[in-house]
Amino acid sequence: MGLFAGTPLERPVTCERCGNPLADCRCPREPGAAGSPGRILLPKDQPVRVQRERRRDKTVTVVRGVTVPPEGDPAAFLRSLKTRLGTGGTLTDGALELQGDHVATVVAYLRSLGYPAKAAGG
Ligand SMILES: [Zn+2]
Repeated sequence: MGLFAGTPLERPVTCERCGNPLADCRCPREPGAAGSPGRILLPKDQPVRVQRERRRDKTVTVVRGVTVPPEGDPAAFLRSLKTRLGTGGTLTDGALELQGDHVATVVAYLRSLGYPAKAAGG
């Protein structure tokens, strides 16, 4: 019998959404502080803006607002978008930048995943 036997502290910490122990939880979460789970953040609560922008003589598609990507980490999300679109891209601070004009495709794809994505600007 440990110190916390019979108290609520003895129970394993479980996810408030899926009920699994946190080690098995695959719910979308914000990055938490070291050792602590982040806040759950569902795709529907992440308003995404997809914007066509000029970079010198090139057009790029900039995706902002995906705090918790479907793949869990931004690099994996960027890879899957690049594969899907057949183009190059890069991570900039807080945003994904894809080469070429893919605004409509990216908006449709993110909406299919449950993100309230919108095309922004021109
Ligand atoms: Zn969960």
